[in-house]
Amino acid sequence: MSANQLGKLIVITGPSGVGKGTLVNLLLQAHPHLKLSISATTRQPRPGEVAGVNYFFLSKKDFEAAILNRELLEWAEYAGNYYGTPKAPVIEQINSGNYIILEIELEGARSIANIFPEAKRVFILPPSIDELEARIRDRGTNSEESIAKRLSIAKKEIAASNEFDFQIVNDDLDNAIAQLETVIFKD
Ligand code: 5GP
Repeated sequence: MSANQLGKLIVITGPSGVGKGTLVNLLLQAHPHLKLSISATTRQPRPGEVAGVNYFFLSKKDFEAAILNRELLEWAEYAGNYYGTPKAPVIEQINSGNYIILEIELEGARSIANIFPEAKRVFILPPSIDELEARIRDRGTNSEESIAKRLSIAKKEIAASNEFDFQIVNDDLDNAIAQLETVIFKD
């Protein structure tokens, strides 16, 4: 595996509500040769989410079995649930020389930095904390308790944003996409 191939492993991290999902979806539409890793999680599906497309929704027992069987490249606990990256598809993409994007939280991004130091790690920042809270509330699918948890985690994540190779503020969508494209496709 060459460093060049590992440069095609892209980690995108940023607080809940920052718009990572929208950014990544637009990116995938514009560049179909980019692949997104589908994570496993123990959280409940949101309305409209499809198993095997948005996430693999697992029971706690099955997730813990996947950890024990070393099927996950990294995993973390976030707001009371497990999230993890299935290992095999990522390794397959890297070995084929394809781009693969991981959209994961801070602890997972730190793990990937240890396993694959050559991966490009990008942190997406909100224009402000107030704007972030408004976006989390607009989503309308999180309870007050979950909103509070997500905001408190967001503040810790933002404080660690300088650990990442690149920081992009998601203020204007087109501008943020253009910056992401530069990061991904430049050598
Ligand atoms: P959500 O519940 O909003 O879909 O995701 C919550 C957080 O978990 C987000 O920050 C998201 O990036 C992160 N996440 C999603 N999949 C994974 C994963 O496979 N590993 C890790 N470490 N975090 C993940």
